[in-house]
Amino acid sequence: MAILELKGVTVRFGGLVAVNALDLSVEQGSIHGLIGPNGAGKSTVFNVLSRYYDPAEGTATFEGKDLLGAQPHDVINRGIARTFQNVELFKGLSVMDNLMVGQHHNFRYGLLPALLSRILPSVKREEAEKRAKALEVLEFLGIAAYKDAFPAFLPYGIQKRVEFARALVSQPKLILLDEPAAGMNEQETHDLAQLIRIMRDKYKTTVLLVEHDMSLVMSICEHITVMEFGRKIADGTPAEVQNNPAVIKAYLGEEEEAANA
Ligand code: ADP
Ligand code: MG
Repeated sequence: MAILELKGVTVRFGGLVAVNALDLSVEQGSIHGLIGPNGAGKSTVFNVLSRYYDPAEGTATFEGKDLLGAQPHDVINRGIARTFQNVELFKGLSVMDNLMVGQHHNFRYGLLPALLSRILPSVKREEAEKRAKALEVLEFLGIAAYKDAFPAFLPYGIQKRVEFARALVSQPKLILLDEPAAGMNEQETHDLAQLIRIMRDKYKTTVLLVEHDMSLVMSICEHITVMEFGRKIADGTPAEVQNNPAVIKAYLGEEEEAANA
């Protein structure tokens, strides 16, 4: 069953067509790769799903229900969490507090009673539950030792994990990862691959992964969609996609560009 389904999604920025009539179907419980050269439209797709951008055309459903009518703050309540291509954490909050903020949609009494948490036992209990949940996720990701640190002072690879933790702590059904391995070394990337796989199994999450590191994509994705200039140019298993001439051509073009740069 598809948990996420896009049909004919088109996003324009002025005259530029960033996403062009995209169909995308993501199976529940799968690790699905969304790849393509720089500027292909991958992050724009994520921004549509997060409801930051409105497509000019097309439909998107999540668990069979319309997603495009949702507001950005509804998205997390629907069970969709994301990480950003550039880490976006609250620099003035500790790691733990970043995760507490990430859970606020689960807060049964809303935000205001949180201020009364010292006098309301029910809220106090909820706060403790949230803290325990956050700690469990930090432990799962191997970064519990950093819970009181401020993200800005942590190595980039750890910051990435904190962002990952913040997404996970909301117990999403679908997690959108935008280039999680960017800036990581080979060992960190290898660890991340394992982490994504274990996370999917443990939390029963569906993963939509945008990533440039082909070895990571090919090793963990069950299905891959390839975009170029906003269009879908291939869709299939890693083996199918790897042998697709249009895909090889798209990536060769990018290598030439890099060589000429
Ligand atoms: P990718 O993530 O695949 O590298 P993006 O989705 O970021 O690609 O970008 C797709 C195209 O849309 C690029 O040409 C990019 O310059 C353009 N684009 C993305 N966001 C905006 C925006 N907010 N305003 C104008 N152009 C944008
Ligand atoms: Mg991008």
